[in-house]
Amino acid sequence: MNNVLGWTDTIVALATPPGVGAIGVIRISGAESWNITDAMMPGKMLMEKMSHTVHFGLMAHEGQALDEVLVTLFKGPRSYTGEDTVEISGHGSPYVLERIIQACCALGARMAKPGEFTQRAFLNGKLDLTQAESVAEMIEAGTSAAHKTALQHLRGGFSKELQVIRDQLIQFASLIELELDFAMEDVEFANRAQFEQLLEASSEKVGRLLQSFQLGNVIRHGVTVALIGKPNAGKSTLLNALLNEERAIVSEQAGTTRDTIEEALNINGVQFRIIDTAGIRSHTEDRIEQAGIQRSMEKMRGADRVIYLFDVEQESVTSVEETLSNMRKEGVSGLIIPVANKVDQPGEWPKKFGLLSNLLFASAMHKSGIDSLKDSLYRSVIDQSIEEDQCMVTNARHVDALQKIQNSLRAISVALHENITGDLLAIEIRTCLHHLGEITGEVTTEDKLDYIFSKFCIGK
Ligand code: GDP
Repeated sequence: MNNVLGWTDTIVALATPPGVGAIGVIRISGAESWNITDAMMPGKMLMEKMSHTVHFGLMAHEGQALDEVLVTLFKGPRSYTGEDTVEISGHGSPYVLERIIQACCALGARMAKPGEFTQRAFLNGKLDLTQAESVAEMIEAGTSAAHKTALQHLRGGFSKELQVIRDQLIQFASLIELELDFAMEDVEFANRAQFEQLLEASSEKVGRLLQSFQLGNVIRHGVTVALIGKPNAGKSTLLNALLNEERAIVSEQAGTTRDTIEEALNINGVQFRIIDTAGIRSHTEDRIEQAGIQRSMEKMRGADRVIYLFDVEQESVTSVEETLSNMRKEGVSGLIIPVANKVDQPGEWPKKFGLLSNLLFASAMHKSGIDSLKDSLYRSVIDQSIEEDQCMVTNARHVDALQKIQNSLRAISVALHENITGDLLAIEIRTCLHHLGEITGEVTTEDKLDYIFSKFCIGK
């Protein structure tokens, strides 16, 4: 399973306040939580126990007794996080609790990041997602703790990355300004080729940071997916296959001519909101026939992703291509994932549709091809280039500043290519430094530049 952001790890942390208390509670959440606890309480056969039961016993690790504890077992999704969870109540000695946490980590868990239990609860749709009108509010409440702490955690790395760019830019700026002092001698202290490389690398870094904001936003608001296709293409069947048992109605907006239902689908911790246009059909069967795909256009235009489902027997490469191009013409800007359904019917479908790029084959009825579709949706959001420890930008002000930095880096690049004079180039660089400083809150660029410049100043 794709786990770039560590959402499928089993996590552990102290759930009660730190310090000495009568008892202390450790919470473990994730697929391995029961296993890990079971390994520390041999003979208790925890794996065979029911959810929502409490067990008393001695907890030990590597032959060493740790504490007499009570463990409470929760089977997902009926737990705070929605995952398999165990709460270990031990005696409230920080030392003992720490030993238990360490044992959990030795057995495969990792320390939870601040707010991560709550974040998972949110991502798993545990926090009141069923009440449509409170979705927005809940999202803020549900993740603000997670984001606040995650931000603290990430901010350091984020500024550090920018700091590196800034230091390098300052160095170039001072070299270029130094050249100005020797204008008559036509010397070049700043290596232009190196500078170009630096600009390119910096621009890439800033681009990644900007991209991370999109991801941050997705984590907060979910990705909207319009599921469209002609009547009988198999949309309802596909929706059921995608949602499995975990149906959750996020919102129901009664319109004048149609009802739209949104279903929440969680793929590896990323929340998708599937706009189920299949619900329209029963009310307006006759009109849908005429209007066909046209009537779902509005939904498609607003969606981040579109799944275009069609019946392999009813369509040809040409008709599918035509539909796809019509969607584009009609202003659908989100990624379209075409899915050929009913491949369980006899026929050489890959051969028939081989010319279509990015096409997925599925049999909604037999639940085949569903994982590929989920994977495709997930990967369309979580790009492979995003690494686990990548800094995430979650603050709109930072995004604004980053955008300015990006523009300004480009302007420097252009200036460099156009062989612009040193003094104008220096101005461009200072502009960029100013925007960088807006985020890092550094001492004024002026001071720093002067300081470095003074070091370079030869005999003047
Ligand atoms: P919708 O109108 O697009 O929502 O289509 P439905 O999900 O209601 O499906 C229409 C018909 O196609 C139903 O009879 C389904 O059982 C059938 N169907 C859906 N998916 C498949 C599939 O993968 N294979 C086959 N053979 N039939 C399917």
